Amino acid sequence: MNVASRVGASVAALAAAAIVAGGPAAAEQQPLSIVATVGMIADVAENVGGDCVAVTTLMGPGTDPHEYQPTAGDVRRLSEADLILYGGYMLEEQMSEVLGRLGERRPALALMEAATDPAELIADEEEAAGIDMHLWMDASLWSRLAPTFAEALAEFRPECREQAERNAEAYVERLAALHGWVADAIATIPEAHRYLVTAHDAFAYYGEAYGIEVIAVQGISTMAEASVADIRETVDAVVETGVPAIFVETTINPRTVQAVAEAARQRGHAVEIGGALYSDALGEAGSVAATYVGMIFANTRTITEALGGDLPPLPAALADWAEEWGLPSA
Ligand SMILES: [Zn+2]
Repeated sequence: MNVASRVGASVAALAAAAIVAGGPAAAEQQPLSIVATVGMIADVAENVGGDCVAVTTLMGPGTDPHEYQPTAGDVRRLSEADLILYGGYMLEEQMSEVLGRLGERRPALALMEAATDPAELIADEEEAAGIDMHLWMDASLWSRLAPTFAEALAEFRPECREQAERNAEAYVERLAALHGWVADAIATIPEAHRYLVTAHDAFAYYGEAYGIEVIAVQGISTMAEASVADIRETVDAVVETGVPAIFVETTINPRTVQAVAEAARQRGHAVEIGGALYSDALGEAGSVAATYVGMIFANTRTITEALGGDLPPLPAALADWAEEWGLPSA
């Protein structure tokens, strides 16, 4: 059975259970209430679902999903949702027990797992799922969540299928354009400086998709503190590569990366903090990084400019978004 039909079958069963529980009339009239764990997943649901969904997000800007422990209020919100949407692949490491328990009573979908095949993802044997779960860092890969979500939504709201499929198609097109633009932007960085030094290893997909070598102080998960050896190794890499800037992350204490920069300076290498990257959460509401497209744009702008590249205008497919933010587009 392929992934799509597997998702269809499991979500259909969940949807049928929900309709029995909630009554068919109530289930068809209201927008489907969805609680998403992280903003990147909520972005997919909102863009694809449109009027058919009402989406809220548990973990806001600056929240680290690897360490996040659900509050009593979160559990209540999750248990009242028509559909719980989470990433899976142990992204929500500390929530996995709660998600498993709620998933027995409420429809719950691990959207990243439903949309991808582990064999095509970046393996990491140190992780619980054996997989690097930071899939959103590759816009092309991430766009696959859109048709998967459209299919899931149609099981709950058959009347929304056509609109959701159209929206998913548009989302995929925008992300394809974004994907090409990021690759173009990174290619403007002088080759000798194409190193991305960050706090934790969230950027492997980004590095692979867009052609920049990633060096992280910490591993994929942030559950353990960075060790002295981790910091020393990163300092060595910074000094050896001669990279002009390294980056903090919005979901991680900047102390470790600041220590790396300070140690590199003491060894005579002038390195700056190039800015804060959105690794595992969207930016604040009202900021350019408040959406998925904006998150990838903001990261790419920060990286490209700090490492001496020259940001190209945004593609025509993103012209409306660019205009909203006063950014140049083709
Ligand atoms: Zn992470």
